[in-house]
Amino acid sequence: GGPAEAKPLESVVLSKMNFESFVRDLLLIRQYRVEFYLFGRLNLVESFVDDSELRQSCQEDLLRRFPDLNRLAKKFQRQSATLHDCYRVFQAVGHLPNLILALERYGGTHQVLLNEVFISPLRDLISDFTKFQEMIETTLDMGQIEHHEFLLKPSFDPTLTELRETMDSLEKSMQSVLSSAARELGLDAGKTVKLESNAQIGYYFRVTCKEEKSLRNNKKFTTLDVQKNGVRFTNSKLSSMNEEYTKSKQAYEEAQTAIVKEIIGIASGYVDPLQMLSDVIAQLDAVVSFALVSHAAPVPYVRPRICEKGSGRLVLKGSRHPLVEAQDDVAFIPNDVTFSREEEMFHIITGPNMGGKSTYIRQVGVIVLMAQMGCFVPCDDAEVSIVDCVLARVGAGDSQIKGVSTFMAEMLETAAILRSATADSLIIIDELGRGTSTYDGFGLAWAISEYIATHLKSFCLFATHFHELTALAQQAPTVRNLHVTALTTDSTMTMLYKVKKGVCDQSFGIHVAELANFPQHVIASAREKALELEEFQDYSQSGENSGTGGPEAKRRFLDKQEGEKIIASFLAKVKALPVNGMSDSDIKLELHKLKSDVLSQKNEFVSEVVSHLVTVKMDTV
Ligand code: ATP
Repeated sequence: GGPAEAKPLESVVLSKMNFESFVRDLLLIRQYRVEFYLFGRLNLVESFVDDSELRQSCQEDLLRRFPDLNRLAKKFQRQSATLHDCYRVFQAVGHLPNLILALERYGGTHQVLLNEVFISPLRDLISDFTKFQEMIETTLDMGQIEHHEFLLKPSFDPTLTELRETMDSLEKSMQSVLSSAARELGLDAGKTVKLESNAQIGYYFRVTCKEEKSLRNNKKFTTLDVQKNGVRFTNSKLSSMNEEYTKSKQAYEEAQTAIVKEIIGIASGYVDPLQMLSDVIAQLDAVVSFALVSHAAPVPYVRPRICEKGSGRLVLKGSRHPLVEAQDDVAFIPNDVTFSREEEMFHIITGPNMGGKSTYIRQVGVIVLMAQMGCFVPCDDAEVSIVDCVLARVGAGDSQIKGVSTFMAEMLETAAILRSATADSLIIIDELGRGTSTYDGFGLAWAISEYIATHLKSFCLFATHFHELTALAQQAPTVRNLHVTALTTDSTMTMLYKVKKGVCDQSFGIHVAELANFPQHVIASAREKALELEEFQDYSQSGENSGTGGPEAKRRFLDKQEGEKIIASFLAKVKALPVNGMSDSDIKLELHKLKSDVLSQKNEFVSEVVSHLVTVKMDTV
């Protein structure tokens, strides 16, 4: 059948137990397409995004009650479960009706899906576990569980009954020991001094740290340990009773061994439904978590539109890095990205250090991954093709221990990318070829980029400091240049974090070094050397009459130089205004005049800055 009749994969796998229907479903599954599961998953996430009450009750209350079911299933399988483990499963299954009730209260558009994927499998599981629940209810001594003791009911066997009686009477006597100890210490039994027990030391008294002074210098009491919640101590009577109690308990445990073994044996027959329960709860947990982050982000995420694999579309508007934007002190600047098969598939990003290149390319990787998991994404609008993988070459992941240097690690990773990428892969490369000589490094970066852009034709983002690489755009039609930039004055540098089309025309390394508080003479010497090299390069380029610094770059450079002068003079005039003697409207008028003056000079760099300031303001609002 077509997608209209199809059910999402999860429900098919989960709700069927018998072999015949399993085979039938397997045949069905082959007709499903990855887009279709993804669509179902996004619908599930959407139901929890839309229904705040359901999301909150699942996340804050219902799901928290479930233990690590996968681990329990493994223990059941190895037959190494204990009565306590059986009780954990008993409790978990006991929480299912409430969970189902909460899910049933959902009244949105994806009711049927929610029913197929969660409600009906959970109902099936409740009935699968009916016998198990009965067994635990009839065999476990529920009265002792509040003391964290997992024992069989004493009525199972005369020896057990007898031992239980001894233990009960010991408990009673210990209560009276508590009363006399309280009297002696001048405290309130059950309130300021308590009788408690745990599995390691058995019964003990406890006072809060505040009451500890009443114990001091009293030789009749022995302190066991001091913790945040108080001082644990005992006296000779309590400790001998505790000893007796422990002995009886051990005897009790021995006497019940055979029956417990039988119970554990029966319980391990429940591995399959337990594993299934684990899967359904895990899926619900994941879906609820996706909905939670999508809703709770600084700016709520949007549902991505998924395009078919191979459609070669990846368009993100106003995309953000989910982790960077979550930091309190960051006003994140959103950016767009567009990929379109045959038109623009390979983006080279240049710009200053700290300018936001890595953040930009990584956020695209993270967003594609999130979309493909079925989560909403940190964008204003997102259209995402299914990719077959996200391949990343980022960071200095060297493995000296394995005998691989930083550069070698980089080359190995890149080689692996070139071997495995297809036209449907997303490749993210953050700096390449910096661990070797400039010429070698650049040569490699160029060759790799060219291969990806013209042979593999994958979606690719390539952040680099090799400005020369930007010339690739003139050779390969799908290569585009993007850049981030910064505003600099003699002593400051402001990152704009806005990704724009075109090549970055300035290099900012020395500015960044300055911000990092380098000694002044080192900075001065670096400037000198850089200038020297630049002149040398200009000279050699003009000699050959070639190179990338064409008239366009030169015009932009001059434009910027002039623009900076215009801005400086504007600021000086603003500063010089005699604001004290002026009314607000005069000031506004004056500023308006100055601003029109600036704009009338029609400098491109200035208009760019002004338009950006407007966007920044909007973003921070
Ligand atoms: P380098 O070339 O030195 O590796 P880079 O250009 O890759 O630098 P990033 O590491 O991406 O720079 O960014 C530096 C810092 O700038 C980030 O840690 C983040 O705090 C901030 N940042 C990056 N992008 C943005 C943005 N769009 N909005 C706000 N802050 C950002």
